[in-house]
Order: sequence, then structure tokens, then C-alpha cells
Amino acid sequence: MVGTKMPNDMKIAVFPGSFDPFTKGHEELVRRAIPLFDKIIIAIGINSQKKYLFSLEQRMEWIEKVFDNAPTVEVDTYEKLTAHYCNDVGAKYLLRGLRNASDFDYEKTISQLNAMVGDGLETVFLISEPQYSHFSSTIVREIIKGGGDPSPFLPRGIEIKN
Ligand code: ADP
Repeated sequence: MVGTKMPNDMKIAVFPGSFDPFTKGHEELVRRAIPLFDKIIIAIGINSQKKYLFSLEQRMEWIEKVFDNAPTVEVDTYEKLTAHYCNDVGAKYLLRGLRNASDFDYEKTISQLNAMVGDGLETVFLISEPQYSHFSSTIVREIIKGGGDPSPFLPRGIEIKN
């Protein structure tokens, strides 16, 4: 039928990551992707082998706060393979950001793998805006560990006291 969107036609994208913590770089990527998809699920991957600086609850709470006014953005967590999680939630797209050539080399392999495992799952890449291309969760963690002020790297409304 013309004009009505059935649930199966919904363009759902998953934006997977650790988001330890969520930065302004992540935020701008999601905001730029909002017009492209009917729904974006920011999905925090849980890897039991990995040590995180911030608790899962804290990371979720921050992201929910940032997108409080964005009705098509949801936050979730997952433990399985990213591609299997996408199938479970009916997402045919993955959203990822590219900051530089090393992101590209890494992401290229992962996206080809996800297309195989996820049965044609497409990864959509957005190139970082220049003013955010040096933003990363790693930098924020280093600043915090060193006693500095991470606020220039964080979305408005997120405060990490040092
Ligand atoms: P991971 O745990 O997979 O490394 P991250 O939480 O570091 O995940 O990042 C998730 C995604 O966000 C990745 O695609 C990464 O390239 C992208 N990203 C991170 N920082 C930025 C930024 N400043 N600009 C654009 N994309 C970014």
C-alpha cells in the first residue's frame, strides 16, 4: 500500500559500541543519522572479558538523558554477537562512525563479517565532522584518570566530576 509503513519496512539501525563514556562525537553521529532511519537503537555491547570505567547503568542513563527529546532513538544492551542482536530486533542496518584511516581499516573487516554473519546486514558509515574527529572515549578516560576536565568532550547535560 502506498503511504503506509508496515513494521517490516521500518528502517531500523543499531549503533553498537561500549560508550565508556558516550562522547559528543557519538552524539553528533546519532543526530546526523536520525533523519536517515525510522528508529536508531544505541546498543551497549556487554563483554564479560572487558573492564569498563563506568557501570552499564551509568552509561545507559547518560545516553538516555542525551536523547530524552528524540522519540526515534532508543537505548539497549546486548551480550551476543552484534549481527545476531540486529536480527533479533529487526534491524537491517548498523551505524558506525569513521574518524580516520585506522577506523576505516578496522571497520571494513568488521562490516564485511557482519554482512556475512548477519545475512546481508548493511553497515552505514558517517564520516566524523572535523571538529569531532579527535574525540574518543579513550581520550575522555585518560583525561579523567589524569585529573583533568572532560566536559569539552561530553554532550551537554552530562557531567563527570573529577
Ligand atoms: P567500540 O567499543 O566499538 O570501539 P566506541 O564506543 O568507541 O565503540 O565507538 C562506537 C562507534 O562510534 C564507532 O563506530 C566509532 O568509530 C564511532 N565514534 C567514536 N567517536 C567518534 C567521533 N568522534 N566521531 C565519529 N564517530 C565516532
